[in-house]
Amino acid sequence: MAERDESAVQAQWARVRARLREEFGEAAFRTWLKPLTLKDLRAGALRLAVPTRFMRDWVQTNYSDRLRTLWSGENGTVRSIEIVIESVLARAAPVDGAQAEPEAIVVADGAEEPPIDRNEFGGRLDPRFTFENFVVGKPNELAHAAARRVAEASTVPFNPLFLYGSVGLGKTHLMHAIAWQVRRREPGKRVIYLSAEKFMFQFVKAVRFKDTMAFKEQFRSVDVLMIDDVQFLCGKDSTQEEFFYTFNALVDQNRQIVISADKSPSDLEGLEERMRSRLGWGLVADIHPTTYELRLGILQTKAEQMGFAAPTKVLEFLAHKITSNVRELEGALNRIAAHASLVGRSVSLETAQEVLHDLLRANDRRITIEEIQKRVAEHFSIRLADMHSARRARAVARPRQVAMYLCKQLTPRSLPEIGRKFGGRDHTTVMHAVRKIEELRAIDPNLSEDIDLLRRMLET
Ligand code: ADP
Ligand code: MG
Repeated sequence: MAERDESAVQAQWARVRARLREEFGEAAFRTWLKPLTLKDLRAGALRLAVPTRFMRDWVQTNYSDRLRTLWSGENGTVRSIEIVIESVLARAAPVDGAQAEPEAIVVADGAEEPPIDRNEFGGRLDPRFTFENFVVGKPNELAHAAARRVAEASTVPFNPLFLYGSVGLGKTHLMHAIAWQVRRREPGKRVIYLSAEKFMFQFVKAVRFKDTMAFKEQFRSVDVLMIDDVQFLCGKDSTQEEFFYTFNALVDQNRQIVISADKSPSDLEGLEERMRSRLGWGLVADIHPTTYELRLGILQTKAEQMGFAAPTKVLEFLAHKITSNVRELEGALNRIAAHASLVGRSVSLETAQEVLHDLLRANDRRITIEEIQKRVAEHFSIRLADMHSARRARAVARPRQVAMYLCKQLTPRSLPEIGRKFGGRDHTTVMHAVRKIEELRAIDPNLSEDIDLLRRMLET
């Protein structure tokens, strides 16, 4: 390759890798994809090298389709991809430090081309992110129902739909699902999905090239505009201003807007006041951290989709241990499936522990029951001793239940273990507390807020 071409191809490879990492999760990426190195591209034939035969076979079977698609999105000259075996020693240094590319996707286009560089929207929707593949549980049922409503309604049901929740809980999945569904139902509709980062990038570029009219036009002719991760716009005043403008124009024309962020509008810092209030005008739906039941449901669904007959014990173990987010959960499952297919037999609990030891360590919560009790007692101004006491007055019983609930959510401790730390209470008492708080949360926004606040304090 000529030097200049080579560096272009390396940059494309870095983007492909970033995409792979994002799509398959850190664990699968590290195990199977990171070891791939770019060897060369000659006459449309791209060669990637892996260190062992086994890895070649695995990558070939599981990732080659995706590799091909991602590559053809990056470089039209790539016609074939070959995965070759090359010992580590002979390899050049791997390309690293790839940053995830912000993505932007035009799902359906009207007749005329938008005036702005179409290549900027060269992304794609993830085919796996559909409603069919989304497992619904308590923590995400509102967000899911709202997303479906938006995708299936013939008039705009609420504007905007604001989805929020922490990383890896399915915001992007739901947005893509909306796009797929709208496309299926009404192929003529124009849907744009893009990250806030990409929005900003487009805007800055338009300003630089004095082409802001075209920029505005482009967004103004859309039926559904979805902007992912708007927390990125916080503190970026001129972009926010432009966003606000676009946003209002679309709302005035009764076009659907869907926004996602990692926090609620009122908690997003560095957001202009009018922007904040406007974002909260429609439906604000939060995605709560996963519960054990949801995690287990997701694992069962995904294992089934992969055709991986995982022992229930192993899935339960994962659902207990990998509590951080769904992306990591998927990564863990992929890794175990890979291992099972490698050794050609089912995975035992011990093997699962071994295969995932790094992930498990990272998911080992440092939050302790004592810490939770202390924080909750402080928050509700009760004595720490009342966490253990037999007093049943509402003023102490409720905070105690909140603490038990948080212990269940934030620590890997079992119900009996939690009960013991609350003055030797029975596990059914803890279970009752967890249910009670879940119920109350749904109807009592103050309590819900208290709990979110406590959780955030405990988690940081
Ligand atoms: P976010 O955008 O909130 O950071 P993503 O939408 O990217 O999270 O989700 C991370 C991964 O977890 C994706 O692979 C997604 O498909 C998966 N995921 C999240 N929630 C669910 C769910 N409820 N059912 C199935 N898969 C899910
Ligand atoms: Mg996302």
